[in-house]
Amino acid sequence: MGASLRLILGDQLTLSLPIIQQADKQNDVLLLAEVNEEATYVKHHKKKLVLLFSAMRHFAQTLKDEGYVVRYRYFDDEDNQGSLLNEVKKTLQDNASLRRVLVTEPGEYRLLKSMHQWPQQLGTSVEILDDPRFYASLEDFKEWAKARKSLRMEFFYREMRKKHQILMEQGEPAGGKWNYDASNRKAMPAHIYPPEPTKFEPDAITQEVIKLVKKYFDDHFGNIGSFHYAVTREQALQVLNEFIEQRLPDFGKYQDAMRHNMPWLFHSHISFYLNCGLLTPREVIQQAESAWHAGEAPLNSVEGFIRQILGWREYVRGFYWHSMPTLQNDNFFNAKRDLPELFWSGHTNMNCLRQCIQDTKNHAYAHHIQRLMVIGNFSLLCELSPRQVQNWFLLVYADAYEWVELPNVAGMILYADGGNLASKPYIASGSYINKMSDYCKNCGYSVTKKTGEDACPFNYLYWRFVDSHHDKLKHNPRMGLVFKSFEKMSQQKIDTVRSDSAAFLDKLSKNEEI
Ligand SMILES: Cc1cc2nc3c(=O)[nH]c(=O)nc-3n(C[C@H](O)[C@H](O)[C@H](O)COP(=O)(O)OP(=O)(O)OC[C@H]3O[C@@H](n4cnc5c(N)ncnc54)[C@H](O)[C@@H]3O)c2cc1C
Ligand code: SF4
Repeated sequence: MGASLRLILGDQLTLSLPIIQQADKQNDVLLLAEVNEEATYVKHHKKKLVLLFSAMRHFAQTLKDEGYVVRYRYFDDEDNQGSLLNEVKKTLQDNASLRRVLVTEPGEYRLLKSMHQWPQQLGTSVEILDDPRFYASLEDFKEWAKARKSLRMEFFYREMRKKHQILMEQGEPAGGKWNYDASNRKAMPAHIYPPEPTKFEPDAITQEVIKLVKKYFDDHFGNIGSFHYAVTREQALQVLNEFIEQRLPDFGKYQDAMRHNMPWLFHSHISFYLNCGLLTPREVIQQAESAWHAGEAPLNSVEGFIRQILGWREYVRGFYWHSMPTLQNDNFFNAKRDLPELFWSGHTNMNCLRQCIQDTKNHAYAHHIQRLMVIGNFSLLCELSPRQVQNWFLLVYADAYEWVELPNVAGMILYADGGNLASKPYIASGSYINKMSDYCKNCGYSVTKKTGEDACPFNYLYWRFVDSHHDKLKHNPRMGLVFKSFEKMSQQKIDTVRSDSAAFLDKLSKNEEI
């Protein structure tokens, strides 16, 4: 067969991957490359670039320590070829003994399509290996989806629990229920203070990368200061262990809570590491389940947490490949408004939005409910262009890769796919945000006012959305109660909702202060 060139992508930093395990340590070359094309096809948050470049550099060192032959291409190498294809081409030119190319399937449709052209462009065979880090293969998902009219996550999740025997007791879900949401999703009382997130001082490699990102990516979104994320597997394991010990017990209860100036709360902060390969879903789920067996965390928290990974994470990946390439262009509500400038600056009098965007800017992180019920809810109610919202979510978060970002944005927050993923649009008025956070206390708007200049914009935008999309949503059984309430509204109130919304949206479109 001849020696092979094995390309390891920046989100494939997992030693147990077959592409690494099956490599011939004497003859095969493992290639990792920091290339301009991948770093700039969207202008990723600076902290995301630091995280990935530093994690790649540390991982390359681990591979060398394990005895593999590694070729590492630094971003500022003089002859850096700028793209993965060209780096592969150059490596083949420099090593005549390399006869074929292997790569693990990428997480993005764009890159997979491009790799399908590689054999022709390189004049050599290119083998694309499955990614075994997920519980469900793409074939498994296809098989599950085939027989169904509606692709609801809940049913997929139950199948996964049964198939992999996770939180199961004698064929039944542990504790007798599949879902413990009734005990979860509480507001967080003011006297509760979550533990500090696990932080690491940047070592020499990370400091080098920070300098590089400041030099070459200064025009990218986000603040680079106080970088404290894990960049090695050992550090990522420490993040996981501290989560299981310190935050998992309260995870379920406060999973949907939001607090002024506190982005981290009782969340795990492991998506960065799961998605780039420093952690695997199996070890995370095993640790969470063991904590429940050992009596160290209650079932409502453990089930809620496992559902995010075994359910949502696996489901969105299957859904992405099942729905591409149409998903990226879906636009059920024909939404067209340009993304407002405040998504970049964070400047707005709406405190909830300001907080969530500032957290995003500072940390390349915001937790699920901030993304879903504040930024997402706002994007849907204001009918922002799905393509522009997708682009924003893909570049601002350090855990964002298209396979996981796109279903969450197009399917979950924008309902752009017309309900293939979500059973109804996730829309809410200000009272939901007020119930789940302390944001409204520090806001320029009044959450109790429904209309008028100082009324919370979510309040009238919510009813404007219901009013505008009646025809498209009237047959949705989950919207029945909402439409019933709307029908009881006086014509005068409807007129005020319409005019307040029009004035607000006009200001938003002109990037005037809101
Ligand atoms: C609009 C929108 C965009 C999102 N974009 C991304 C993204 O680009 N990358 C990403 O990893 N997650 C994304 N999510 C899901 C979720 O917000 C993040 O996974 C989570 O906030 C990461 O923080 P954490 O590790 O502290 O998560 P926790 O709250 O502690 O949850 C544990 C883990 O569950 C998984 N998870 C939870 N919810 C989801 C979900 N809806 N889809 C997939 N995995 C999930 C993640 O791996 C996460 O690490 C998005 C959600 C929304 C609403
Ligand atoms: S009043 Fe409205 S805009 Fe202000 S923080 Fe509350 S929900 Fe957000």
